[in-house]
Amino acid sequence: MAIEGMAFHKGEKILLKDAKVGVMTHALHYGTAVFEGIRGNWNSTKNQMMIFRLQEHYERLLRGANILRMNLPYSAEKLSDITVDLVKSNGYTQDVYIRPLAYKSHELVANLKLHELDDDITIIVVPFGSYIDNDKPIDCQTSSWRRPEDTMMPTGVKLSGLYTTSILAKTEAVASNFDEAILLNYDGTVSEGSGENLFMIRDNKIITPTETDNCLLGITRDSIIEIAEKELGISVIERQIHRSELYLADEIFLTGTAAHVTSVGSLDNRKIGSGQIGELTKKLQELYFSIVIDDESVKKKSNYSKWLTSFSV
Ligand code: PMP
Repeated sequence: MAIEGMAFHKGEKILLKDAKVGVMTHALHYGTAVFEGIRGNWNSTKNQMMIFRLQEHYERLLRGANILRMNLPYSAEKLSDITVDLVKSNGYTQDVYIRPLAYKSHELVANLKLHELDDDITIIVVPFGSYIDNDKPIDCQTSSWRRPEDTMMPTGVKLSGLYTTSILAKTEAVASNFDEAILLNYDGTVSEGSGENLFMIRDNKIITPTETDNCLLGITRDSIIEIAEKELGISVIERQIHRSELYLADEIFLTGTAAHVTSVGSLDNRKIGSGQIGELTKKLQELYFSIVIDDESVKKKSNYSKWLTSFSV
């Protein structure tokens, strides 16, 4: 029997098909919403769902909600509990993607303000396989669209309005037969992918744009920085990256909840390194995959169970 999806909507758990908003909703008109993308990875050996860094995702969501001057009656802990309950109710025994969306729910048009408006949060859970095929390196294109500057819109959290740019960039890349877009900042330095942070490797140094390069403060990015340090003894360098440095890189990879760790084989029709997945990218990818699913067969120096919320469904 097919599972009927459940959502958390307007304070209660209801059927996903019944979770609706009105056409006058402020967020629908103005993008006044902030969301998260959280993965539950299914460990078929242990028969357990493992949600990766659940609380940290809600902490980032609540920081975004604060920027949008939202008053949500939930803590990160409470939202985490609601999510675990919802994932159990959905009952999927496969990888899932969890999408919380906090939004200006007020049904009032022609009203350009954030204050004195109602806010709400909806959480949905959907089965989710791979977002990008990680088995082989992907082909990327430097986008003609630029990553918005933080002076135009806050970039460190997942504000819905920001994603029009990501979607324009990804659409342009895919329409030209590339897999993914890399967005530059307005000054031409590198920011990130349409839905991923970027790392480049040169002479065994791992480099990623800084927090002030308008990229999202990615949770996978943060995880990779910690894994590289603890497992490989390599401190990731956070600094500005020029566009052409990417062409000179030995390896480039992208990180994100949906994309995991994805190797970049070419950029703008130029091979990166050998064009195959690089040695360090491969090591980090293996470590990351084994950590999100708690695969003990891959030996690790540190314990990462602090990042997992695991339960049977
Ligand atoms: N940048 C953008 C624009 C994204 O949408 C995402 C996906 N959330 C990322 C980076 C990676 O962030 P995270 O690792 O937290 O998923």
